[in-house]
Amino acid sequence: MTVVIHSAVKVDADGVVEDFWLAFTGSTLAATGTGTGWHGWSTAENAVVVNAAGRWLTPGFIDVHSHGGGGFSFDNGTEAIQGALAMHRAHGTTRSVISLVANPVEVLCESLELIADLVEADPLILGSHLEGPFLARNHRGAHNPAHLRTPTAELVDTFLAAGRGTIRQVTLAPELTGALDAIDRFVAAGVTVGVGHTDADFRLTKEAFDRGATLLTHAFNAMPGIKHREPGPVTAALGDPRVALELILDGFHVHPEVARVAFFAAPMRILLITDAMAAAGSVDGHYKLGDLNVSVSDGRAMLSGTTTIAGSTLTQDVALRSAIFDSETDPVLAVRALTASPARALGLDETLGYLAPGYAADVVLLGTDWTVDAVWAAGRPMSDPT
Ligand SMILES: [Zn+2]
Repeated sequence: MTVVIHSAVKVDADGVVEDFWLAFTGSTLAATGTGTGWHGWSTAENAVVVNAAGRWLTPGFIDVHSHGGGGFSFDNGTEAIQGALAMHRAHGTTRSVISLVANPVEVLCESLELIADLVEADPLILGSHLEGPFLARNHRGAHNPAHLRTPTAELVDTFLAAGRGTIRQVTLAPELTGALDAIDRFVAAGVTVGVGHTDADFRLTKEAFDRGATLLTHAFNAMPGIKHREPGPVTAALGDPRVALELILDGFHVHPEVARVAFFAAPMRILLITDAMAAAGSVDGHYKLGDLNVSVSDGRAMLSGTTTIAGSTLTQDVALRSAIFDSETDPVLAVRALTASPARALGLDETLGYLAPGYAADVVLLGTDWTVDAVWAAGRPMSDPT
């Protein structure tokens, strides 16, 4: 099947192009251009021709940090993972990393093995993210303290073996005994290491980056903030061109004005993540995150009976609109933070994150108000084009 989308306004990290068209026949983009060059592609047998009529066209969104959605948690096996991903895909997220909260080691290993099987079957799943168990007790957020561990070489190797090369990302607190050596081990295995859920100061965070960590997990949340005499981990990340910063832009985790400053300080290195839990794309009520109870009201998820935030109910299209409308971010930079920047953070920016020939046929068509109209992932429609 050939799909042609024409008369669009393309937005990706390379900029804005009007009267844009693209064509694909399989899982990668075959051709792009402007004007009427698409006519030749539209005569193919069974060609699907979509007139974007001036709407926005962006690469598929890449979520490097999410725990579920649509009523499902990623911790609960294959069907739950697929149910949650279906909801996120309808909101423009074409590629996802599957984040796991702290759980007993054997439970985490089971999840890692299962995700490794899924990655082999579904290229839209980029791998797993061990958010726990190597986290600081006093910044654990919604991770069960009973399951937190120190990162010994044996434990790191146990996880790496269970993941069979599909652990894409790990979050750790560098102040834990053995954490800096664990960074070496994970980096050598091709895992992107994020600093997070940490009490580390500026100096120790820099040391973690010098050892090979390249990410700050949900910047500002579950870590010391920026003080004028205590710059902290966020300042270390903003000042280091090797490092990308995750932001949860739901208007609640991070104030839109703080997000605006972060985009100003590191425009090419912000990753808009969801950190979504099961209630994203679903209803308020009672949920589980790992084995902890979470209550969601007005779309805000909290550990039951506490004021501890327990993930978000975001989808990435909402994060995009928050960046553009609430934080007044240039749409090119906002789209970059959902596409090219996460692709780069995972070392996948030669195949994902741009609307150019040879890149994945991951495409999101959005209305002029930035709501999602249609999504294709690896060339397949995720929702009906309108
Ligand atoms: Zn977290």
